[in-house]
Amino acid sequence: MLFSQLAEVFERLEATSKRLEMFEILSEFFKKVSKEEADKIVYLCEEQLLPPFKGLEIGMAEKMVERAIAKVSNKSPEDITRLYKKLGDLGLVAKEVLAKKRPTLFQSKAPTISEVYNTLMKIAQTTGEGSIERKIIELTGLLTRVSAGEAKFIVRFVLGSLRLGIGDPTIMDSLSKAITGDRMKLRTDIERAYNLCSDLGLVARVLLEKGERGLKQFKVQVGSPIRMALAERLPSAQEIIKKIGKCAVETKYDGLRLQVHKQGDKIEIFSRNQERMTHMFPDIIQGIKKQVKAKSAILEGEAVAFNEETGEFFPFQVTITRKRKYEIEERAKEAPLVLFTFDLLYVNGKDLTQKPYEERTKMLAKIIGKGFTIRTAEKIITENPKELEQFFEENIERGTEGIIAKRLDSPYQAGARNFNWIKLKRSYRGELQDTIDVVIVGYFKGRGLRARFGIGALLGAVYDEKTDSFKTICKIGSGLSEEKWVEIRKLLDKLKVGHKPARVDSEIKADVWCQPRYVFTVMADEITLSPLHTAGKSKEKAGFALRFPRIQGWIRDKKPEDATTVKEIEKLFKMQKRVEAKTLGG
Ligand code: ATP
Repeated sequence: MLFSQLAEVFERLEATSKRLEMFEILSEFFKKVSKEEADKIVYLCEEQLLPPFKGLEIGMAEKMVERAIAKVSNKSPEDITRLYKKLGDLGLVAKEVLAKKRPTLFQSKAPTISEVYNTLMKIAQTTGEGSIERKIIELTGLLTRVSAGEAKFIVRFVLGSLRLGIGDPTIMDSLSKAITGDRMKLRTDIERAYNLCSDLGLVARVLLEKGERGLKQFKVQVGSPIRMALAERLPSAQEIIKKIGKCAVETKYDGLRLQVHKQGDKIEIFSRNQERMTHMFPDIIQGIKKQVKAKSAILEGEAVAFNEETGEFFPFQVTITRKRKYEIEERAKEAPLVLFTFDLLYVNGKDLTQKPYEERTKMLAKIIGKGFTIRTAEKIITENPKELEQFFEENIERGTEGIIAKRLDSPYQAGARNFNWIKLKRSYRGELQDTIDVVIVGYFKGRGLRARFGIGALLGAVYDEKTDSFKTICKIGSGLSEEKWVEIRKLLDKLKVGHKPARVDSEIKADVWCQPRYVFTVMADEITLSPLHTAGKSKEKAGFALRFPRIQGWIRDKKPEDATTVKEIEKLFKMQKRVEAKTLGG
């Protein structure tokens, strides 16, 4: 298929601010896609060349792209820089200079989607000496073959500023509709496969090549991160036992969640967000090689930095310093990690995700040999709320975050948050029971002291799974240092869009809208009801709002769709009421 057809679709997607329309446009388009191009098209729609865990970047700075545009339009780089200053978008610059130069193109030269994709891949894979020049030559070559409108999207793609805002759920809905004529018919199967490999391009290709049966037989694969199972919340030990009965109760370590994939001596480590982090943890890799007695395995655990001087764990603030690009070996010596493993998803060729928790963790204990780095999470098995409560209190005293109770017969449900796992954390009576993860959808220009930063507050939203949209819940103006305000503004400006993004539902008008990408953990005093915000709002009901929200830390290792959901806010609101009632003696 010609790339011009995809560019036309992008043009239509860009013009709409309605998610439903995006879905219609994409599902019509996916009907025409061939199996050979399905994965490439899905990646391009996701604004990437490969799933993030492959760690591939195009590696072209603006100046390089400016040079390519200059070459292809026979203008000087200075002319292009000038025009860029005026238009503020190199995609528009490319469109303008090429439209003047060649209003029409010879059809025979027009590249297919695969050709464009392969060239972009080649650019990304060009590294080492002379790579800057070679990348520019490749991009120039590509731009000579496309129309002005296509060039706009190629340039934006190369710079990571396509900002179409198509979410994965929209792509999944559209694939199901395109193949079966029904949005929901294959939705669960597509999502299941996606959760097992974090690669929607691959899922699309399997679907088109092998049909529904192939999709249903999809299995986990070593090397492709599995989307992690998540925990629900309940406010007390009694409620946990009432809900799931006899269960395993594990320490909830406050560290970094890691998923380790082992194939012989080849080891990969992925983050909570399916990013590849292998190079950051040489100590864990050594530990896995020494201690894990299995040819192949996928296991999960929480990594915590350990202070060898005191024999105690470091707080999270220290553990997080292990997430770094440089001086890795030094930091590994100063703050070695211990990985508390708590699940085994695959071993020696067998997918264990459908096996019950008890069986998986027994196998886990069997394959882990003695040593410092790799251990299994501490746990008790109980059906007695008092015992659970005691284990929880002991854990709080030791400075851990609390406990996670796990249903003994539950499978590992990739990507799902349900009552198979229930977390109970330290709580402050009367206050909100947990922090909230909000996604930033816009910001307000600063007044008063912050005016000089050009940013004074952020507009925060939570995720509504039902409608695949982001609904506002708070304006946040505290918790960041001055430098961080400047930094976040720069980052948000890179995601700036001219109108409210299609998947954002807001009645408040931000001064600057941006595509939802960055997730922050926010502490608040309580959840209140408010007519201003759209989270949980309906004709009959006011929305939810956060009282005194303040940011904790910095950008989280989460996708926008991993932010707290409206459903969770509703539950937290109810839990808050229950605690209030108890505190007041109700
Ligand atoms: P979530 O990961 O559920 O979206 P979050 O990142 O805000 O939420 P928490 O709500 O604090 O984290 O709790 C869940 C996290 O606890 C897990 O993702 C994992 O990183 C961590 N954890 C620590 N110990 C365990 C354990 N024994 N079993 C499962 N998870 C654990």
